[in-house]
Amino acid sequence: LPGDPRIDIIPRQVLHACYSRVSPSVEVENPQLVAWSESVAELLDLDPKEFERPDFPLFLSGASPLVGGLPYAQCYGGHQFGMWAGQLGDGRAITLGEILNSKSERWELQLKGAGKTPYSRFADGLAVLRSSIREFLCSEAMHFLGIPTTRALSLVMTGKYVTRDMFYDGNPKEEPGAIVCRVAQSFLRFGSYQIHAARGKEDLDIVRTLADYTIRHHFPHIENMSKSESLSFSIGEEEHSVVDLTSNKYAGVYVRNLCLYVVKQGCGGLISINDACVLFMVSKCSVCLRIAWSVEVAERTASLVARWQGVGFTHGVLNTDNMSVLGLTIDYGPFGFLDAFDPSYTPNTTDLPGRRYCFANQPDIGLWNIAQFTSTLSSAQLINDKEANYAMERYGNKFMDEYQAIMTRKLGLPKYNKPLISKLLNNMAVDKVDYTRFFRSLSNVKTDESISDDALLKPLKAVLLDIGKERREAWTSWVKSYIEELSSSGVSDEQRKAEMDSVNPKYILRNYLCQSAIDAAELGDFEEVRRLLKVMERPYDEQPDMEKYARLPPAWAYRPGVCMLSCSS
Ligand code: AMP
Ligand code: MG
Ligand code: MG
Repeated sequence: LPGDPRIDIIPRQVLHACYSRVSPSVEVENPQLVAWSESVAELLDLDPKEFERPDFPLFLSGASPLVGGLPYAQCYGGHQFGMWAGQLGDGRAITLGEILNSKSERWELQLKGAGKTPYSRFADGLAVLRSSIREFLCSEAMHFLGIPTTRALSLVMTGKYVTRDMFYDGNPKEEPGAIVCRVAQSFLRFGSYQIHAARGKEDLDIVRTLADYTIRHHFPHIENMSKSESLSFSIGEEEHSVVDLTSNKYAGVYVRNLCLYVVKQGCGGLISINDACVLFMVSKCSVCLRIAWSVEVAERTASLVARWQGVGFTHGVLNTDNMSVLGLTIDYGPFGFLDAFDPSYTPNTTDLPGRRYCFANQPDIGLWNIAQFTSTLSSAQLINDKEANYAMERYGNKFMDEYQAIMTRKLGLPKYNKPLISKLLNNMAVDKVDYTRFFRSLSNVKTDESISDDALLKPLKAVLLDIGKERREAWTSWVKSYIEELSSSGVSDEQRKAEMDSVNPKYILRNYLCQSAIDAAELGDFEEVRRLLKVMERPYDEQPDMEKYARLPPAWAYRPGVCMLSCSS
């Protein structure tokens, strides 16, 4: 890929390039390993003993170079809060290189907070312990919740201090510096493609080159589509097989299903979509790859957002530079998990009062972001406007399919029931019911018909706190219709409980838990960070001696200034 010929770190517009060579320049003084993930170490075939080496924090902070590494920072742009912001880029993240593990998987290692790059703009290129603990823990927590995410290998304290303006009192504060080693198959974002299209005609080639690179390395199943010589497929029960792939046309009614089928199975190429017919052909034509690719990016994004909604995760800054092209959760800043259910929950104080990125807006924002991404691909003529629309349509369908399936499983229902789920969410919002604890308790509801009206709410007593008499009626009536729906399924209470508990986490990384770990770590005690990591590695399991990590936020968490989050970190 085109690289930047300059090697200095003077902040500037880096033109006609996807990345700049730059080495970590962060200063360290006796850097300390705060925590590390055994699971990520395993992914990289790293022996746990390595973490005991006294010089290991030097590698994990970038102070000592890795042999064979090729450090660089990426150039990307983005829409921030709905406005095109021009060049952003890795302002404090530096990729060290890629590791090819024993399973032939390629993993990119990136240090966040490793010093300035040409993309640092007005900022210092550093990260503080507070936000690094949050990113480290949440990356791993999300992975163990089963949600696609960038990973975190390690968290190192640099031993140096970093100055930050505290947004709630405006005073500068010295905070311990830290570095997270992030790991992903790729950190490419929507903004990585957008920036080149935004720079005009002469850089459209770079969009094409980068798209081809992405497909080749990260979507090999799509790349391989062009290699098969014949195509057979089924639509519902019908089997079809096509030999002369260049001359077959199918009726419009099949169009949508066919497109989807082909994209999913990776067995053919989609050339053009129109209302009358679809033409399949197997050739070395790269256009079809890019259509299939844009559809897959849209679908992965939809499925990611659906999972966030299911688990009550609010990202906080869904700018297009924070949208992974692999459909991973990327860039943990002012994120938050729902405590009391509130559709307008907005953990990022920078996003007030607009609430563009509040919990309930995430599905629409995902689509808005996909629209920016596909518009970049159309301006580079990789797809046409119809195909861009098709990708957006797929986003919508995929989101609804996945979201409905997730909510159906969370409630343990035999089938999706929109009125029942809407009524529940409405009740939860009115009574500010804790999202996680509610769903975890819901599996205790029994379908036994002999239960009296008075006893119906018993299994939910601990999660329906402070509910007045008039609200008790609303809840009793909801539980009644819920039980009615469950009874039609024929699934035993025990089996349903097991299934529900496997999708409704008991332990989630609430902001107040992060804050406790941060407070202890800032005083030099890293045990809480390590313990939280262990708890969050098994979010769906009962962990009897860890019950306190499943509690509601304590009163102190609501004090002004505590748990307040912003983009600045
Ligand atoms: P974010 O809001 O975290 O997605 O960051 C937006 C942009 O600001 C990205 O290009 C970051 O690399 C950059 N950035 C954020 N914090 C810093 C920092 N302390 N030093 C340099 N660049 C930063
Ligand atoms: Mg970012
Ligand atoms: Mg960030």
